[in-house]
This record gives sequence, C-alpha cells and structure tokens, in this order.
Amino acid sequence: MLANKKRNNEEFELIRWIKQKAGSGGHLSLGIGDDCSIQPQQADQDLLTSTDLLIEGIHFKREWTSMFDLGRKCVAVNISDIAAMGGTPQSLFLGIGRPKNINDDEIEAFVSGFLEEAKLYGAVLAGGDSCASLGPLMISVTVQGIVATDEAICRQGASYGDAVYVSGYLGDSALALDLLQNGQQPDSYLAERFHTPSPRVALGQELSKRQLATAMLDISDGLLADLGHILAASEVGADLALEKIPLSKSFQDALGKDSQLIDLALSGGEDYELIFTSPLKDLAEQIDSVTRIGVINQELGLRIHQSNGELYQCQRDGFDHFA
Ligand code: ADP
Ligand code: MG
Repeated sequence: MLANKKRNNEEFELIRWIKQKAGSGGHLSLGIGDDCSIQPQQADQDLLTSTDLLIEGIHFKREWTSMFDLGRKCVAVNISDIAAMGGTPQSLFLGIGRPKNINDDEIEAFVSGFLEEAKLYGAVLAGGDSCASLGPLMISVTVQGIVATDEAICRQGASYGDAVYVSGYLGDSALALDLLQNGQQPDSYLAERFHTPSPRVALGQELSKRQLATAMLDISDGLLADLGHILAASEVGADLALEKIPLSKSFQDALGKDSQLIDLALSGGEDYELIFTSPLKDLAEQIDSVTRIGVINQELGLRIHQSNGELYQCQRDGFDHFA
C-alpha cells in the first residue's frame, strides 16, 4: 500500500504513547500492540458492536471545540449506541486520519479526552489505526459491549398501548449549535450538552436488566426522526403531548423569547438521550431521569398534540449536522 511507505517513527511513537496511556481492561487477554486484541467470550452474553465515522466540517468544527472535548465526545456518541441497547461498553477502537495541520499536542489532547471519557464507562481502548489524511481530520470509533443473552433492547418491539418515555432534556445540544452557527456563545450548561454529552449507560442497563422496555433508541438525529425509527421497525404509530417534552431551564429561557425554538427539541440532533417504550405507565415515578411523553397507537404515523387540542406541525426536518 502507498500509505505503508509513509509509515514512520512518528506513527509508531504515537501508538506506543497510546498503548502506554490506554492500559488494558480485565476483559481483554491481549490489548493494543499485536495484530488483533483478544477478548475471551462467555456463553451467556451477546456481543454488541457499533461504529461511527466523524469528519471535520461535517460532524464537528475544530474552532468550536477543544481537542480534549472532541476526544470525549467521540467516545460518548459511540458508547451511546451501546447504552441504547441496554449494554455495557467494553472495548473501543480508534481510527485517526490525521491532517498535517494538527500537531502532536493536539493529538495527545484528543486521545487523553478519549481515554478519560472511556474510563467513565469502564471501557478500554483496545486497538485502532493511525494514518495521514490529505483532507480533514477523520475519526473512526468502534465500540464493543456486552449484554445478557437476549436482553438487548432493539428498535422493534413497541406495541399498541405502550407508553413512550425519554430520558433527560431534549433540544439543548441543537440550541447550542444554533447559537454557535449564529456567532453567539451558548451558556456553559448548553455548551456542555453540545460538546460533551453523556451517554445514558446506567439507565439503558437498568431497563434491560429489569426488562422494562419493549423498544429503545438513542436520540442522535432528533426526537421525531428517532422515534420514527421505532415506529417503522415496530409497525405502529404514536401520539405525543407537546407540553410533556422535557426542557431544561436554559432551553425554556430561550423558548420564552422565541417560541419557534420548540422545533429544536423535536427535531434537533445530538441529545444522546434515550427514547423507549414500555407497557408500564408509571416508570417516570420510579426512575427520576425519565419523562412520559406519549403513547403508542395502532394508527400509523406520529402526531404531536398541543394543550389546546390542535395538532402541532414541526417546521424542521430531521437533524442534518451542518447542512
Ligand atoms: P497493523 O499494521 O497490524 O495495522 P499498526 O502498526 O497499525 O498495526 O498498529 C499496531 C497496534 O497499535 C495495533 O494493536 C493497533 O490496534 C494499535 N493502534 C494503532 N493505531 C491506534 C490508535 N489510533 N488507537 C489505538 N490503538 C492503535
Ligand atoms: Mg494499522
């Protein structure tokens, strides 16, 4: 391969540094340094695997974020997919396509943020690849996790009469992005929600262990788009109550000045909250961080009801990053 000629000491230095800093997880019998890592398997577990590609200019802008936070976010959004199945993250794989205008300190800050975030969830960097990019910074992250056999929560499984729940608050990340795109600074809470979102791993695990959810997804493309995936996979419809959509204090303040912003909570992306359905109607009383926002119905489609009885029409399509 052409790239092979370009492999130099710098790359091996970086890998040595990463290997030393990443440590090794108890679930691995062999970590970074060989052709593959080795993870012994147990009979009563399913292995979950998910991958994300993050490209500068499309998924992130370097001028808006620190490399440390970018490293954290790359892990968080990836681990969020494991959370969305109710699993426990274990191994991460990191591919870096590195443009010339990124120096060693920046790459080290990125990897440090990556490892710090991984540690929060007990996940270990188990391998990757590093090469030069002639274009933008490109990051590929793969995560593997485990879940007890047959306890993964899929998109398919919602049925008539199930309640629809979401975790946390919606729209914060999209509001922060909206402000940044208009040259304004989001407050520290909104900035944190955008730059360093928290995957809801513990909630996902609880729902899967207690077998409470019939279908689940993490909200990366916006509530309507992602709930739409559950509805399509489960072949059902849903009715939501607009006033039940959980909104943070910062979001409510902004909404007070511009009522159109509600569309960011409905269709803005990158919340990384969980949306799930359950036959149980009282989960919001049992679990602090969740809100019941609607119900699954036989009539296909997704309807949003306002308190005055009229249907609400969201003016925005699903989230499309910097489009
Ligand atoms: P190979 O030629 O087999 O692809 P590499 O020299 O690319 O091997 O990588 C050597 C070891 O370092 C492998 O275990 C690989 O998984 C790991 N590695 C390379 N780049 C990264 C990275 N960015 N993050 C984590 N591990 C990495
Ligand atoms: Mg390689």
